[in-house]
Amino acid sequence: MLKRLRTDFRLSIITILGTSALLGVTPFAIMRFLQGNHVAGAIDTTIMLTILGGMVYAWITGDTRRSGMLLAVIACSGAVVVAMVVGEVGLFWLYPCLVTAFFLVSPRVATFLNLSSIGAIVLHGDAFQDDVQKWTFMATALVVSATAFAFAQRTDNQRERLEHLATIDPLTGVKNRRSMDEELDLAAAHAERTGIPYALVMLDIDHFKKVNDEYGHGVGDEVLVDLVMLIQQSTRKSDELFRFGGEEFVLLLPGVDGAGLVAVMNNLQHILRKKMTHPGGPITVSVGVALLRHGESVGSWLERADDALYEAKETGRDRVVFSDVMPGADTVTPSANPELTA
Ligand code: GH3
Ligand code: MG
Ligand code: MG
Repeated sequence: MLKRLRTDFRLSIITILGTSALLGVTPFAIMRFLQGNHVAGAIDTTIMLTILGGMVYAWITGDTRRSGMLLAVIACSGAVVVAMVVGEVGLFWLYPCLVTAFFLVSPRVATFLNLSSIGAIVLHGDAFQDDVQKWTFMATALVVSATAFAFAQRTDNQRERLEHLATIDPLTGVKNRRSMDEELDLAAAHAERTGIPYALVMLDIDHFKKVNDEYGHGVGDEVLVDLVMLIQQSTRKSDELFRFGGEEFVLLLPGVDGAGLVAVMNNLQHILRKKMTHPGGPITVSVGVALLRHGESVGSWLERADDALYEAKETGRDRVVFSDVMPGADTVTPSANPELTA
């Protein structure tokens, strides 16, 4: 339970805000019933039960988006109704609800909820003793909303930046190994569900250390960027390229196998042979390819692509080797892949 609170930000916010709301509203619900104000008491009780329901739903289903929306709508509309029923003292409840909405839903939706709530109370007008109170309420509520909006917007930008830093390779701009692990898991699950074939291509630049040693890291970096550009230009939008590490890349190709996959790899090899170059001459790349087998783990899939790449290196480099038997293509020799001899 504590682990879920630590790892799921939205769930922890829903739990903290929901618990605070329950603790904050309960005494007022009791007080209103004791004072004989049954309408306000019933409204408070409904708000509490809905908040409790939203929290339980979030914990059971993990769907924090929907429960966040429910809690934000209930908090804002509840505060509006309370202000209309109990008058000016009810207005104070709107302020925490205005801010809370920005923790539960996107800044745009929260802004809409804030403006609708403020507008409804001002237009209804019964909560105010005079116009000065009305305008003061409107001005202060709008300042609170605007400040919360600016803060939420900044937090969103920072989250996006952090996500970018954590998942994108800064040199080449492609996704890094961390993203690759996640996407390969998703691909394997998708393949299991739909039967769509997935090919994993592992590419490694030949004698890259020599490029760095003889022409410097700057030239080495340019070669890496060129390779990424060429691969991206010659593959489909649905194909995903990842930097596996150093001068090794992984290409994930959905929906292609057999003769189609061989043709794609031949085309890629042709383009790389023609265009990969540096001041010392052409640059070649070795490639290992593995098709995801039924029920295979991602670890084993990667290992087979790596074995095929190893074979390409061992048998002269500048080659594409397949882990699986392919029409008219080189396959890993049985001794290098125990699975094929089995
Ligand atoms: P092989 O044909 O067997 O693959 O030989 P290789 O020289 O390509 O392989 P090795 O693994 O020995 O060398 C990889 C080199 O890649 C060593 C490292 O300095 C270089 N490298 C790794 N990351 C970067 C990078 O971001 N920029 C540059 N310029 N070089 C890098
Ligand atoms: Mg290499
Ligand atoms: Mg390498």
